[in-house]
Amino acid sequence: MTYFEMTKTVIKNLFSHPATLMYPAKPAKKTHLTRGHVTINPDGCITCRSCQRKCPTQAICVEVKEKTWQIDRLRCIVCNCCVEVCPTKCLAMDTQYTAAMTARAGIMKVTVSGPRKKEPAPAES
Ligand code: SF4
Ligand code: SF4
Repeated sequence: MTYFEMTKTVIKNLFSHPATLMYPAKPAKKTHLTRGHVTINPDGCITCRSCQRKCPTQAICVEVKEKTWQIDRLRCIVCNCCVEVCPTKCLAMDTQYTAAMTARAGIMKVTVSGPRKKEPAPAES
């Protein structure tokens, strides 16, 4: 970089806004593709464990017997893999960023509906 180019860059930066945002003092720009945090509709979960198997950071733990679904938000890298793989579409990506937390507060555990019961076959007449 020549001396002239460097001076140009310095002067430009002196009179332009910073590239960073004052988040959270100023709200971050969000679109429908923004990855904030994973949410679950417990009524839709069939405890198939697909999300747990697909999660690259082992952030999800599904207990079939206890019918629980758990996420450790401090492990989650918000890759969206679990949302894409869920067969019942009960997982979703919220655009709201997760608030700052401690290790204990990062774990969210919910009771889910579990495997769907088969409908009884209609009686033959
Ligand atoms: S978004 Fe990615 S890292 Fe987070 S729980 Fe889902 S699969 Fe795991
Ligand atoms: S959240 Fe979806 S992928 Fe995960 S166990 Fe439940 S139904 Fe299966």
